[in-house]
Amino acid sequence: MTATESLLPALRAAVGPAGLVTDADQLRSYLVDWRGAYRGAAAAVVRPGSTEEVAEVLRLCRDAGVAVVPQGGNTGLCGGAVPDASGRQVVLSLGRMRRVHELDAANQTITVEAGAVLQTVQEAAAAAGRLFPLSLGSEGSATIGGTLATNAGGTAVLRYGTMRDLVLGLEVVLPDGRVWHGLRGLRKDNTGYDLKHLFVGAEGTLGVITAAVLKLFPAVRSRATAWVALPGPAAAVELIEVVRALAGDRLTGFEVMSRQSVEFVLAHAAGVRDPFAQPHPWYALVELSDTLPDAGLAEVLETGLGEAFERDLALDAVIASGSAQVAALWALREGISEAQNSEGPSLKHDVTVPVSSIPDFVERTDRALAAAVPGIRVVAYGHVGDGNLHYNLSKPVGSDDDAFRARADELARVVYDSTASFAGSISAEHGIGVAKRDLLADYEDPLELELMRGVKALLDPAGLMNPGKVLPAG
Ligand SMILES: Cc1cc2nc3c(=O)[nH]c(=O)nc-3n(C[C@H](O)[C@H](O)[C@H](O)COP(=O)(O)OP(=O)(O)OC[C@H]3O[C@@H](n4cnc5c(N)ncnc54)[C@H](O)[C@@H]3O)c2cc1C
Repeated sequence: MTATESLLPALRAAVGPAGLVTDADQLRSYLVDWRGAYRGAAAAVVRPGSTEEVAEVLRLCRDAGVAVVPQGGNTGLCGGAVPDASGRQVVLSLGRMRRVHELDAANQTITVEAGAVLQTVQEAAAAAGRLFPLSLGSEGSATIGGTLATNAGGTAVLRYGTMRDLVLGLEVVLPDGRVWHGLRGLRKDNTGYDLKHLFVGAEGTLGVITAAVLKLFPAVRSRATAWVALPGPAAAVELIEVVRALAGDRLTGFEVMSRQSVEFVLAHAAGVRDPFAQPHPWYALVELSDTLPDAGLAEVLETGLGEAFERDLALDAVIASGSAQVAALWALREGISEAQNSEGPSLKHDVTVPVSSIPDFVERTDRALAAAVPGIRVVAYGHVGDGNLHYNLSKPVGSDDDAFRARADELARVVYDSTASFAGSISAEHGIGVAKRDLLADYEDPLELELMRGVKALLDPAGLMNPGKVLPAG
């Protein structure tokens, strides 16, 4: 019997029979990620119902030398929430810890358990006339714990920041079972090192986040959305500046996509149409929002677009009238990832470079990829307002899937070398997990890696919290 199997009775006693899953059929969905890209094995999934139960589970696992893999909605894109293939790790799901503890309207905060689904938190805020702004395609399943552990970004970062900017306090169970009660709702708190930021973006390698205090904002009462055709990414970067100069903080979304990206959506998604009669090289989806019901946002957009036409930054533009048209424009952006999957293997790279470097980055990387694989289709799109591009690759038309897949590592190097040459990051918002773990050794500063290893050794000396994720061996 393995150490994990001998531990099962104690785990059952800690979380109750409803909190322990060992049945092979029920285990299956916990052992594979959302895309089916990463698969693992586990003797059990524990589903604690409280912080005390999480603490007891971690104590038991520490004493038995059993590794623990925290899991939220399992929508992560880097394999961080999936156990390894040994079958000896235990998955700790936060799925039963979904309560909203408190909404403090005057303090503009909401306190929730880590298993709360992002959309539930958005809805709780909206019911109180407030906004919780994090917005992701996976918000119906992703949890607060998972979005914190990956420092998720999404489409509203330009105005509100990433999860790191949206958190005020955390409760965390450390790998030895001690509970750090950092659940404070303070906007000013200069009492030494700000420990919560160690756990944000740590992908479950330092402890289990069990609850969080998050910032709220006033509810948005008006929006204006435009779809703009552009000659290229350089025009996109200039257009951001034109709109920002007019709209200031009311610029809440600026998504950019290449024609190739939009063509895939038009070819594969149901019920979408090209807003323009002619194809254009690039497009921007620009969104303004305000807390005033009649803020005149469409007029602000019209002024900005007028200037953009005068300066030859825009080739065509449409401002959405009504929520159906807004949804139709967002469908063109949000459908890209799925549409690309219909074109064979999709090699995904989530990178960030300074906004000012985006045009040169795209030009140089496109050229290097075309030289490596003539006919390669680059599907570049993303939250360009914050420098984040999803720089994805599809095979040349008619070529072989496996031959293209076999070159994934080589092509990733082309993209990441180019990213590094612009002082960018090989992971903008999806994290490292196992997907990019070994690349960190090549692209991260050695001193940063050394410090990270020091933090890991301090908090998790036995190496039992999500081992094999984030940090490369060495
Ligand atoms: C359709 C789709 C669209 C997406 N769009 C975006 C996007 O726009 N921006 C973006 O940033 N991401 C995006 N993602 C990625 C994903 O949704 C995010 O990474 C999300 O933050 C993961 O949350 P989760 O609850 O599913 O975490 P999981 O996938 O369960 O876990 C992710 C990591 O966090 C750790 N973890 C989970 N819960 C805890 C906890 N309580 N304590 C400690 N560690 C924990 C896990 O061990 C793992 O390493 C998208 C994913 C999909 C499928």
